[in-house]
Amino acid sequence: MQRPLSTRSRRYKDVYEQAIKLPLEFLHCRVWQHSWGRPAREVLDTNEVQYSVECTSCHAIKLKWTSLRGIPVATRMIYPADYCLVATGILETVDRAVICEIYDQRLIEEEQAAPTTLAAA
Ligand SMILES: [Zn+2]
Repeated sequence: MQRPLSTRSRRYKDVYEQAIKLPLEFLHCRVWQHSWGRPAREVLDTNEVQYSVECTSCHAIKLKWTSLRGIPVATRMIYPADYCLVATGILETVDRAVICEIYDQRLIEEEQAAPTTLAAA
């Protein structure tokens, strides 16, 4: 198990200062992964099938192209503005822990602001 980043480290501050600005919907996807809706399917002139699916939480779009027989050709993600953290490189597990920490705190703040039935039980 990796040790968490020191809250005094440059890396912690880089990730924290950007992630704290993310709306809850973006944090949700970063912690739980995207919530894909129903894909749209279109057969292209190139004899490929293009699938397009949108996240119901953050509205990221995933495009996927396959052959008519389902062989993957390419995929592409289109993220909403400000979804991606800048100049952090690939996030490691310890970086994602910082995002999870912020998400958890945001959930606590929301529960305190408007208690849910579950929390009140
Ligand atoms: Zn999402």
